[in-house]
Amino acid sequence: MGPGLYLHVPFCLRKCAYCAFFSRPAEPAAVQSWQAGIERELKALPAEFAPETIFIGGGTPTALEPDDLGRLLDGIHNHTDIRNVVEWTCEANPGTLTPEKAVLLRAAGVNRLSIGAQSFDDATLRRLGRMHSAAETSASAALAREAGFEHLGLDLIYGIPGVRGDSFEADVEAALALAPEHVSCYCLEIEDGTPLARAAAAGDLAIDEAEQRRQFEQARRRLGEAGLAAYEISNFARPGCECRHNQLYWSGGDYIGIGPAAHSHWNGVRWGHTAELAGWKRAFEEKLEPAAKARETLVMGLRRTAGWGREEFRKATGFDYDVLRGPEIARLAAEGRLVAEPDRIRLADEALFVSDGVFAELV
Ligand code: SF4
Repeated sequence: MGPGLYLHVPFCLRKCAYCAFFSRPAEPAAVQSWQAGIERELKALPAEFAPETIFIGGGTPTALEPDDLGRLLDGIHNHTDIRNVVEWTCEANPGTLTPEKAVLLRAAGVNRLSIGAQSFDDATLRRLGRMHSAAETSASAALAREAGFEHLGLDLIYGIPGVRGDSFEADVEAALALAPEHVSCYCLEIEDGTPLARAAAAGDLAIDEAEQRRQFEQARRRLGEAGLAAYEISNFARPGCECRHNQLYWSGGDYIGIGPAAHSHWNGVRWGHTAELAGWKRAFEEKLEPAAKARETLVMGLRRTAGWGREEFRKATGFDYDVLRGPEIARLAAEGRLVAEPDRIRLADEALFVSDGVFAELV
């Protein structure tokens, strides 16, 4: 799979209660200096860099005013070799996507819109600190279709304290009613420094892991029945609508991330940027030792439902996974946490919800 380009748009209307991503209010001066930084980085992309996927993420890319969004898209067109691009995604949040912005994105070549629905229950949305209502999510999906988007993704959050199983089931049904090509279902994480973490520390939030697991399994079953097959722990798609850009991350591919807090992996070097609105620089840069990189790729690829084929892994890393981690693989298979066939390994269904424990033993 060819390389990918990621652009980080670090602006949101307001901070959600659970969010630890780098984002700030979209004040005009901040947007202008961020744009200048993005253009500098676009101009400095390696001459041979011709991405097959582009992912504009955030933050909330659609928090940008139409002029700023247009300038960003022009910058990509003017300074990037986009001839090989087959998938171009932009994240959007309900309440910030207008018909004008949707048309602008589509006309620029964006062919996949990923909408942060999170829940279709207004009380839950308020508890999460989201800025939008469920009705606005449906309206965003409709206007994306009108603008010509044939590939729509919806993000949902499960395992929210106080949200009962039947309410989450209703979220999944409401998402399906919008006929998305792709659904991502993430477990609510309590991230340090967020209002949710403070509520948890004060004893106001009780995480119910058994309920989280029930909701995870219910989503997997229901989305599968509706034709959205699980292809990664948290991701579901109609056949052929899997997100190529994310598959690049899971298969150890090359990508360049531009913007604050963005990460890159290019030609065996990995680096990440500081989280600053202007003048971001490399916070770290490391050359990866081949076996360590291969172990990391092993774990990332096991996030995919299909796991790793032996030959595919050898091609991607130069290693046989049994040479890297043979005894651990055999033990995890004996414990029923991995399925090991002669030439393929994958996570056992029972281990999907507790995959971190498996990965910790393999990396
Ligand atoms: S919209 Fe997304 S990036 Fe912005 S604060 Fe909410 S969760 Fe974080």
